Amino acid sequence: MGSTLFVSDLHLSDSTPAIETGFYTLLEHHGSLDRLFILGDFFEYWIGDDDDTPLHRRIIECLASVRACGTEIFIVRGNRDFMLGDDFAEAAGATLLGDTTVIDVAGVPTLILHGDTLCTDDTEYQNLRKVMHDPDWKANILTQSLEDRRAFAESLRAASREKAENDPTNIVDVNPEAVESAMAEASVRRMIHGHTHRPDRHQSTAGERFVLGDWTNQQGWYLEESNGDLRLESFELA
Ligand code: MN
Repeated sequence: MGSTLFVSDLHLSDSTPAIETGFYTLLEHHGSLDRLFILGDFFEYWIGDDDDTPLHRRIIECLASVRACGTEIFIVRGNRDFMLGDDFAEAAGATLLGDTTVIDVAGVPTLILHGDTLCTDDTEYQNLRKVMHDPDWKANILTQSLEDRRAFAESLRAASREKAENDPTNIVDVNPEAVESAMAEASVRRMIHGHTHRPDRHQSTAGERFVLGDWTNQQGWYLEESNGDLRLESFELA
């Protein structure tokens, strides 16, 4: 039996070579993976599948070769790479999932999601999310030139750095009621998400909640299911 791996929040960009290498190393060390789930913010930003950069080509090549070895790959979009589209998925041999999906993890129905939708106390972000997830808004952005989209993404990143948005103290945590209602709606007692950069394993009356960790230049995170056991692990990046 192979195993299942979950990762999120790698925030890959041209300035994260250690994280990129760490991701390749992680996959090499898990040769017989059945499934790989990437639960959002895989990329620091994504301005459209037509943004053909060396980084994107390397990642696509890596995922396609993992897929060719028999691993199924599933990707949930995060708040930073919410524009990931079908062309990318097809090239990478991956399946794009919707905001919430119930999957079977060692016989247990498990809700997987990025996690931003659980942070309902951040009303400013939730309002912005509504705008940016509007198909018309996305379609309109994609009509702009790559140059304009790059400039737009760079302005968002600069504003994000200014506010140190990747620092967990600046990320609004999940709302406990939103967690409970998401689990009840999906009829599950287990949930896996990322986004908050607060890796942990929580138990509540609603069930069990795994939070994946964000990757830094020093440390990577993953959750592995193997023989029915779920282990949240971190490892040092060379
Ligand atoms: Mn996120």
